[in-house]
Amino acid sequence: MLDMWHNLLSVTPWRDILSETEIPGVVTLPDGWTVETFLLAVVGIPLALLVLHFVRVILITVSGRKYRALRAMNQACAFDRGIRERYEYKVNLTSRKQLERYDFERFFLDEYTRNPQAFGAVLESALNNEKKYRKYKADVEQLLGVKPGEAAKVRFFDPLEVKICKRHLLKPVPPPIFHCTAEYVSPKGKTSSTRTADFNVKQMEAIGKQYKRNVDFQASKAYQRSLMTDSLRYDIMKRDNFRCVLCGRTAKEGVKLHVDHILPVAKGGKTVPENLRTLCDQCNLGKSDKYDPKGVN
Ligand SMILES: [Zn+2]
Repeated sequence: MLDMWHNLLSVTPWRDILSETEIPGVVTLPDGWTVETFLLAVVGIPLALLVLHFVRVILITVSGRKYRALRAMNQACAFDRGIRERYEYKVNLTSRKQLERYDFERFFLDEYTRNPQAFGAVLESALNNEKKYRKYKADVEQLLGVKPGEAAKVRFFDPLEVKICKRHLLKPVPPPIFHCTAEYVSPKGKTSSTRTADFNVKQMEAIGKQYKRNVDFQASKAYQRSLMTDSLRYDIMKRDNFRCVLCGRTAKEGVKLHVDHILPVAKGGKTVPENLRTLCDQCNLGKSDKYDPKGVN
């Protein structure tokens, strides 16, 4: 047998084989072999194997259990591909100093505040895609015993169905990057400098949280101000004997009395009697929204 293959391997050019049935001293066919059987072995067997291979591929794609399960998983995955890989922003600054001190976090917070729905939707899609891909990866690993990240490696010894499945694995949707370029161009346009920043989904999520805190705080400020009723104002003035608690003057002495938040609402102060006091307009204006946590207020 080995001899036979050895002989087959020491083949001479085709035209010699085709023109002669025997080429003495060059090819010695085994006993009982003709050129026809030789051709059948060399061409026919591989051809049959190839046909068999394609038949198997077709059978797998039509009825392979794993393959069909994978296709169903791919369909169910339904990534949101409507989000971009990169969102570009540009700001033009009027001085070099401004550029050096440029606060990109502030920039993205302002952008987010301007359009919270759009940012929220993009971030939600990105996070959903990530979640879906994590689940997909786990499902694929369970189904095929391979990690989708290693999908590119189709190994020689993989069973045919796994090999076919690997070629149909979904790739993750790249998470978006928010890119901002801040540029300063000198007045005559001779020199320009730029600084850039990339914010990823996680950083933008933090920005989104900050935005929500700001919104909540604005709402709570409005709420605290709404608690300041005429009735409460009267009660506080009565408690303080209708006098400014700082200078002692009364309305009779020509000042106008206000009710002041000791810890300003803008700094988180509440509209409760302990945080309220009577001040004349002069003292109140002077105080504005100053607050000394340890000192006299
Ligand atoms: Zn006063």
